[in-house]
Amino acid sequence: MCYDVIIIGAGPAGLTAGLYGARAKLKTLLIEKSMPGGRAATTDIIENYPGFPEGINGFELGIKMKEQAEKFGLEIVTDDVTAAELQGEIKTIRTNNSEYRGKAVIIATGARANELEVPGERALTGRGVSYCGTCDGAFFQDQQVVVVGGGDTAIEEALFLTRFASKVTVIHRRDSLRATKILQDRAFAEPKISFIWNSAVERIIGEEKVTGVEVHNLLEDTRETLATDGVFIFVGATPETEFLAQGLKCTEKGYIVADETTVTCMPGVFAAGDVRTKELRQVVTAVADGANAIIAAEKYLEGCGNK
Ligand code: NAP
Repeated sequence: MCYDVIIIGAGPAGLTAGLYGARAKLKTLLIEKSMPGGRAATTDIIENYPGFPEGINGFELGIKMKEQAEKFGLEIVTDDVTAAELQGEIKTIRTNNSEYRGKAVIIATGARANELEVPGERALTGRGVSYCGTCDGAFFQDQQVVVVGGGDTAIEEALFLTRFASKVTVIHRRDSLRATKILQDRAFAEPKISFIWNSAVERIIGEEKVTGVEVHNLLEDTRETLATDGVFIFVGATPETEFLAQGLKCTEKGYIVADETTVTCMPGVFAAGDVRTKELRQVVTAVADGANAIIAAEKYLEGCGNK
C-alpha cells in the first residue's frame, strides 16, 4: 500500500492538510504521536482565530479540526515517527510500530517547548516546574508562581495562571516584552501580575517540590532567592525535526527552510506550520500552510503522472 500523501503531525497545519487532502480524494494518511491540536491544544482560549468571536479552547479547536478532516475520510494513526527516508519517488516513514510508504510527505510536526536548562529544572519537573499553565495551573490555587519568558506564550499563560495563583511574577531577561501589545496591556493592568526585569532564573530550588528560584539581575550582577511554589517556563520552542534523515535544508535552530508554498529543497517533501521558516507562528498561518501544502503536493503528484 502506498499513500499519495503522508502527513506527520496533527496540529492545525497537519489537520488542515489532512482535510484538504482527503477532500481532494488523495489517499491521505496522518501520523500523530499524541493528541490532535499541537501546541495550540494547550492554550486555554485562542482569541485570534477567526470565526470564534468568544474565543475557543485550543484542545476543542484541535478536536473539531480532526473531526472535520475525518468526515472527509482522512486516515489517522497514533504512532511516533522514528525515521524518514524522503529521497526518491517513494518515501518511507518509520514509526515505533510500523512503516508507511507515500509519494509525497508533509512535515507538520511543529515545535516543542524549550527547557530553561538550569539546575533543579529536570528534577523538579512535575513537582512545581511546568511547561503548561492550562494543564497544571489548577494545582496552584492561592499559591505564588513564577513565569519565565516574555513572549506571547509566557504572557498568555501568566494571565491564565491568575485564575488560580494568588501572585504571578514574570521574570524576563530584558526590560521589554516580546509579546503582542494587547497581551502586554492586559498583563500590566492585572493586579496579580508583577514583573522582574533584566533577570535570569539561574537555579530552581527545592527538595520534594519547588520552594524558590535563584534570580540573577543581569544589569546589576546581583543574585537573590525568591520564594515560590511553582515555576512555569515559556522560553520559546524547538522544531521537531530530529527524526529527519540528512538532506532537508534546515536553519541552525532546526527549522525546515520553506516559504509559504511549503516546498522544501527535496522533491515531494513539504513543510507546513511552525516547523518551517516563517515570520508569524500562529494557528491562522499554520492552517494556511496546511492548505498550501496539499495544493503543492497535488501539483507535484500530477508532475509525477499520478493523475
Ligand atoms: P518566543 O516568541 O520565541 O518567546 C520566547 C521568550 O522567551 C522571549 O521573551 C525570550 O526572550 C525568552 N527566552 C528565550 N530563551 C530564554 C532563556 N534561555 N532564558 C530566559 N528567557 C528566554 O516563544 P513563544 O512565546 O513560545 O511563541 C512562539 C511563537 O508562537 C511566536 O511566534 C508567538 O508569536 C506565537 N504565539 C502566538 C500566540 C497568539 O497569537 N495568541 C500565542 C502563543 C504563541 P527575548 O524576548 O529576550 O528573546
